This record gives sequence, C-alpha cells and structure tokens, in this order.
Amino acid sequence: MLEKYSFSVADRFMRYVRIDTQSDPQSATIPSTAKQKNLSGLLVDELHQIGVQDAHLDEWGYVYATIPSNTDKTVPVICFCAHVDTAPDCTGTNVKPIVHEKYDGKDIVLPDDINQIISPREHPYLLEKIGEDIITASGKTLLGADDKAGVAIIMDFANYLVQHDEIKHGTIKLLFTPDEEIGRGVNKVDLKKLGADFGYTLDGGERGSYTDETFSADGVSLTFHGIIAHPGYGKDKLINALKVVGTFLDLLPKDSFSPETTADREGFVHPVHMEGIAEKAQIEFIIRDFETKRLKIHIDRLEGFAKQAVAQYPGSSYGIEVKEQYRNMKEVLVQHPHIEAAVAEAMRRTGIKFKKQSARGGTDGSRLSFMGLPCPDIFTGEMAFHGKHEYVSIQDMQKSVEVLAHLVQVVAE
Ligand SMILES: [Zn+2]
Repeated sequence: MLEKYSFSVADRFMRYVRIDTQSDPQSATIPSTAKQKNLSGLLVDELHQIGVQDAHLDEWGYVYATIPSNTDKTVPVICFCAHVDTAPDCTGTNVKPIVHEKYDGKDIVLPDDINQIISPREHPYLLEKIGEDIITASGKTLLGADDKAGVAIIMDFANYLVQHDEIKHGTIKLLFTPDEEIGRGVNKVDLKKLGADFGYTLDGGERGSYTDETFSADGVSLTFHGIIAHPGYGKDKLINALKVVGTFLDLLPKDSFSPETTADREGFVHPVHMEGIAEKAQIEFIIRDFETKRLKIHIDRLEGFAKQAVAQYPGSSYGIEVKEQYRNMKEVLVQHPHIEAAVAEAMRRTGIKFKKQSARGGTDGSRLSFMGLPCPDIFTGEMAFHGKHEYVSIQDMQKSVEVLAHLVQVVAE
C-alpha cells in the first residue's frame, strides 16, 4: 500500500535524536528537564506543517493532536503514543547519528570511540538486518531510538494519513509524553481530554513484535530494629540491626528468586536500596511477577527470611510495608480482544510475522491500561536501548509506519 510513498521517518528520526531530551530522576519539576520541550515544541510545529491543526504542547510537556475522522461510520477513537525523553543511564548530549547503508553483517565500529563495537555476536538480530540501513550513534552517547523511533514513526504515519484521504479511518489521537524513562510518563496525562477508546504505544523492538503483557509490581520496605546501648557497656544488651539485615540478606537464595537467576516467565525479588545504623536498618525491595497473585507468595517468602533472621538475634524485630507499583496490563487487555486482533490483521496485510511478547518490566501502557486506556505496545525496530550500542533499522521503522496505516483501516472496517 505504501510502495509509492516516500517515507519521512528516517529524516525525522535523524533530526529528533540530535535534540537532547534526557530525563532526570532527581528532578522534582514537570517535565523533569525543560529541554524535553525542545523536541515536543518541534513536533507541534511539524504537525502544523503536516496539517494537523489542533496539535499543541501543554504546560506539563505533553503533546496532544487529532487527525479527524474521514468516514461516516462510527469508529472507535484510537491513540498512538510515544515518549520524547531518553534514559538517564547514558548521555544524550551531542548525539551524532550515523547511517550504515546496506548493512553487511559485520561488526560496526563506532568512530568516536573505537572500543565501542556493535557486533552480531551480542546482537544476533543484526543478522536479520543484512542489506537494510542501520542507524547508530557515534560511540560517545546513546542513540535515543528509544523512543524517538516511535516518535518519528507516528509523525510519518500522520504525514501519510493526511496526504491520503482515500484511506478511511476514524478519529486518531496522537500523544507524545515526557519522562517515561523515570516512570512518570503518564502522571499528568489527561485521558478525558485525549478522549480515546484504546491506544498503542510505539516503543517495542524487533519487527513484528507486539507486547500485551508486563510484570505486575510491588515495592516492599523491611525495617529491622535492633537494641542500642553504649558499645563500651553493650554486653548482653546491644543488638545490632545492621547484623540482622546482613543475616537476612545472606538467607536469600543464591540460585533462584533474583533477577540475576531468573528469565522468561519467572518472577523475582530484588533489593534495590539499603540504609541503616546500628539501631535500625531499612531495606527496599522490588517484587515482580507476571501473575499478580504470585506477588503475595513472593512477599510471604521474603518475610519468612526476615523472621528467620530476627530469630537468630533474640530481642530484634522487623516491620514490613508493601506498596502496589503497577499491574500486568494483560489483565485489562484480555477483556478487549479486538485490540490485538486489529494489530495481527494489520501486520498480516503489511506482510510481516506477528510476534507476541511479554515485557519483563513495566511500560507506560501498563499504567494507561489501568487508568482506562487499554494500551499494548507495537514494534519500532529500536534495539539495545539505554546504551551506546543502540541501533535501529530504517526499514523496520518504515514497516511500523505501514502497520499503523493498515491498522487504522482495519479498525474502521
Ligand atoms: Zn521507551
């Protein structure tokens, strides 16, 4: 369908990645860094140029835009969503994107730091990309394909749709969010104003991948209490909370129950922060599983180790606090099977294989789904994200644009 269309996705991508949009977990402002608005503002200007008149940036750094329906039928309102920020893990200042035309399957040495080598040995997906055009950074920064690939795909899709009125579709909403990488991407989103029935994030990896499942997540805080006394006169009185917490950590299994020993559909518990003094020590855990009901099993097991630890130090005690973080979006999406069916059909029409995946993490889509906007994730081609080896295939981005063009028609049918 898009054989004759001259894609703008790669040009847009090259433009967007040069703009530094790194978010900052330490910041209390919204968005966390004002520079994210440099890209968001540009997107508004470009949407106006495309002909999407109502595009605008709100005070929180969110871009909202509407492509009006061009059919008389009653069709559900779909939203396409991507995030403008890049991960705090790796610098996004002075990104120099490089196009490697007709990739030959060999190692890609990045010119600004020749120790940075993107090799198909570590990135086997590259072997499927031989002959395609690969974009990488230059060796000193991340690329920012996560999620500027998604942003560029949605922009090119909007450009295509406005130019092709013969493609019949319902109302399409576009949403660009800040601060996804620091877990605040949907904090200030106005779903009422957005007015969509369901949505898709464009933030996935390999061609054809579709993610409808995320972890369910809780946070657990354990506090161990010792008994403090003057250390010079502490005999038979002093109980050191730091030693209790050390014993507790040592009781945790070494061969299971942790992110470093689990994969696929297994859940885990993971200590992420600890602080304390002899009197009192606190340790924070994240708890993850695809099945929400298993979170409780993991937490009970963790608490069992806490009990064993305090039992070894009579007089010590512990307290436990559990906080819900997010839930597996599949719990929502199974109630709306048409959302997946439409993507599967759109991929079939695009001529690519539909590959269902689970994310061992959370996405903005998981939170949006529970806020009332069911929102799985579609591929963009972004790979090896959050680091200097990040790359994306131009042809994967183009295929994603094509999937969206088919998808809006499938929904309108
Ligand atoms: Zn992302």
